[in-house]
Amino acid sequence: MTKKIVLRDDEMPTQWYNVVPDLPGGLQPPLDPETKQPITPEKLGRVFPMSILEQEMSTDRMIDIPEEVLDILKIWRPSPLVRATNLEKALGTKAKIFFKNEGVSPVGSHKPNSAVAQAYYNKIEGVKRITTETGAGQWGSALSFATSKFGIECKVYMVRVSFDQKPYRKSIMQTFGGTVVASPSNETNIGRSILEKMPDTPGSLGIAISEALEDAATREDTKYALGSVLNHVVLHQSIIGLEAKKQMEIAGETPDVIIGCCGGGSNFAGLAVPYVPDYLEGKKIRFVGTEPASCPSITSGVLAYDFGDVAQSTPLMYMYTLGHDFIPPGIHAGGLRYHGMAPIVSAMVREKMVEPMKLHQLECFEAGVLFAKTEGIIPAPETCHAIRGAIVEATRDLNEPKTILFNFSGHGLIDMGSYDRFYNGELHNYDYPEEEILKSMANLPKI
Ligand SMILES: *Cc1c(COP(=O)(O)O)cnc(C)c1O
Repeated sequence: MTKKIVLRDDEMPTQWYNVVPDLPGGLQPPLDPETKQPITPEKLGRVFPMSILEQEMSTDRMIDIPEEVLDILKIWRPSPLVRATNLEKALGTKAKIFFKNEGVSPVGSHKPNSAVAQAYYNKIEGVKRITTETGAGQWGSALSFATSKFGIECKVYMVRVSFDQKPYRKSIMQTFGGTVVASPSNETNIGRSILEKMPDTPGSLGIAISEALEDAATREDTKYALGSVLNHVVLHQSIIGLEAKKQMEIAGETPDVIIGCCGGGSNFAGLAVPYVPDYLEGKKIRFVGTEPASCPSITSGVLAYDFGDVAQSTPLMYMYTLGHDFIPPGIHAGGLRYHGMAPIVSAMVREKMVEPMKLHQLECFEAGVLFAKTEGIIPAPETCHAIRGAIVEATRDLNEPKTILFNFSGHGLIDMGSYDRFYNGELHNYDYPEEEILKSMANLPKI
């Protein structure tokens, strides 16, 4: 039995797949919060390069991957597809479990797939400097790596609490040439005004987004980049599923269930969307998106227009949301702590194509430890949610032969602090109180 299926460089996809024209029911356009009308490209053009905006709005099914982008992706792509035979054995299941290993990238997650493409399009439009925000540091690291490849400066606003608690993330960004400041910083108006009122604030992703956007909007040479949620990020991540599909064909398998963990939705969608045409042709494929019980946007949120950040500085997006001022509790799957869900994934949930699965963090860490012991790779805490989902599917009925494919979004070698807290019994399960979600929902913008 083949353990892993590895493609040659020249078998790598040369086009991305855009699912938008194939989505039943289509997508609602992003709105300008001032006019409540679809936002104009001119307005978005202040912070995004035009070629990225074209991809964001595109209804072309296949879009060429530029040669320069392919050359950089080849540093680690095509990524291996692995059959988790040892995990199957440990579970005693007849199910076949495959995972696509995105942990082999320079920063250990799927995020550079989009960072490299975004840095490239900024480069060809003459952008000299890119700003972004980062929570735990994964996206900041990916963008620092990508910008270094194109000689672009990268400025990362990193949430204060992570900046203080996770100094090695900062070192990774610095190694790739990124400049990192703790957010709120005294380098922006919004940062200064928050520091004046709350000098000891731990910061938040919302504040960091607002600072990065202000920085980009006020400098001629600077644009902004976002690491998940938006259509162009899902487009860039589709390379995961396109490769996986070829590899599954080589293995002689078709997946019955496709699973991914969902923060903003990009790694899950990246694996899942290339299978949407097969689904629409009537093939029986289930798409399962797993999320933490403490931040359950597709299980407990509503489908509505909402802001992408607390400071209400982004366009309104039509998505499943817990409310832009929802503050998720500090569970350790940092990358899954986002109040909203990609409009593409949201549309698939609405059409009942995606089944949401809500999981508690302790069962996810247990799954991660079993995976590490059996398959030998320590997963990121976010990825543990995908693994748990795969285990749930594989053990529903141990005798049911089925083929499961999940996305291994990243390794956890820089997350051992979270594992320490798990081993010390310092982590607890947490269901977010219904009332908190309702309170936050009451503040949704009125459309
Ligand atoms: C950022 C991140 C996620 C969540 O982001 P998505 O946009 O939902 O994919 C999941 N896993 C890892 C390892 C991450 O770094």
